[in-house]
Amino acid sequence: MYKYETHMHTAETSACASAAGEQQARRYKELGYDGIIITDHFFNGNCHESIKNCKDWYKKVDMFMSGYEAAKAEGDRIGLKVFFGLEYCYCGADLLTYGVDREWLYAHPEVMSLSVFDYAGLVHDSGGVLVHAHPFREAGYLNEIRLVPHYVDGVESYNCGNASEVYNERAKWYAESFGFVQTGGTDNHHLSAERLSGIYTQTPLESIDDYVQAIKTNNIAGIIYPEKLKN
Ligand SMILES: [Zn+2]
Ligand SMILES: [Zn+2]
Repeated sequence: MYKYETHMHTAETSACASAAGEQQARRYKELGYDGIIITDHFFNGNCHESIKNCKDWYKKVDMFMSGYEAAKAEGDRIGLKVFFGLEYCYCGADLLTYGVDREWLYAHPEVMSLSVFDYAGLVHDSGGVLVHAHPFREAGYLNEIRLVPHYVDGVESYNCGNASEVYNERAKWYAESFGFVQTGGTDNHHLSAERLSGIYTQTPLESIDDYVQAIKTNNIAGIIYPEKLKN
């Protein structure tokens, strides 16, 4: 079995993260993961203000990808697969997006003016997938639970960033009820994160497209469950 992180952030790109891409890559390698997918907060989420304010679209995209690039450079050096993804924010609903890359972002400066529904359509037309991250998380920064079952391909039924296990139990119920592929993710922002999740696969993922296919064909071998929270 092969182990992959599906949901994590870097300090270069996400304002709420403290771990640099290089540090994240090294840590996951040490922990025996085969690969990681960097999913920094997109322009409508908590990426650095300097990135949000950048007016040059190409430069903005390059700045956004800097955390991924740093992790990838270290991953290449130490033998850890590092793939690109992003976490798109729709008023509290966080949609992990896989299967898009720098060229795709360069070619679609309109993404920020699209509705979430048109964004999902564009990602799907481009061969990508959306996984709803922690759909039932409750926290001070969230005002409502917002579900878009007709626009996503999978549900993150285990997320280590949830403060209570019941938010994961509800996500699992949601995924099962709608028949969604289920994933696990740490939502890792810091080197101090102790409880790590992710997914297992039967065959190694050589590219993000392999992960996209695993989502599309329901070919996730299992979720990595850390020790349960007490509450
Ligand atoms: Zn964050
Ligand atoms: Zn996240």
